Amino acid sequence: MSRNIIFAANWKMNKSVRETPDFAPRLKAELANAPKVEFEVVIAPPATHLMALGPALKSTGFKLAAQNCGQGKSGAFTGEISPVVLKELGCEYVILGHSERRHVYGEKDVLILARLKAAVDEGLKVILCVGEKLEERKAGKTFSVIETQMGILNGLNLGAQLVVAYEPVWAIGTGENATPEQAQEVHAFIRKGLGSAGASTPIQYGGSVKPENAATLLAKADVDGFLVGGASLEAGTFAGVIKNGLQSRT
Ligand code: PEP
Repeated sequence: MSRNIIFAANWKMNKSVRETPDFAPRLKAELANAPKVEFEVVIAPPATHLMALGPALKSTGFKLAAQNCGQGKSGAFTGEISPVVLKELGCEYVILGHSERRHVYGEKDVLILARLKAAVDEGLKVILCVGEKLEERKAGKTFSVIETQMGILNGLNLGAQLVVAYEPVWAIGTGENATPEQAQEVHAFIRKGLGSAGASTPIQYGGSVKPENAATLLAKADVDGFLVGGASLEAGTFAGVIKNGLQSRT
């Protein structure tokens, strides 16, 4: 079964609103000579930049994403952004459970599930991030951590609204990526855990992806794209990730 190859840019809390619209046409131009393989590009700017980026994406075919969303349509959720509004702003995707949300802001699986349900109800596609910390990997707990984080999906059928991103916490922003073999091992585990949905659910890898390691990672059978932080901030570098990655699929 062929799955969508999805390259998602997570800008985190970077870039000004003013420098945002330029990015999309520059990336489009950089991708003009990309390998002729079907793929999808998703860009998740800070929420304050969505209005500036949305119209700039129209002529590119790139998709707009939010980095998180509130756990309801509206109400007493200070500082949160409703999935209803994200749809209104043109978002197709929302990233949920990113390791910085889990470990810097203390978001627990129960909250991530509430956000996920709210997002899916509004028709958003969810990029659900899972991944173990270094001490958990060293203690041999990688699979049990992933199983618990993936457990919020039990009993739900998200169909084409689900993308999973395997992001080992020790690889995020550290320059040290998982080896292709480490990534493949966990991706295969995640896919198996998804049961019948596994065959069609894209599973991205994230954690220090750069142009230099994109090809060997994307060459793995269960790696269906990337969630990219640092290397997504500059259009040429992000295009390098995409083009080198796709090279392994030609
Ligand atoms: C991320 O933010 O999801 C990420 C993977 O960051 P980086 O690519 O910088 O490691």
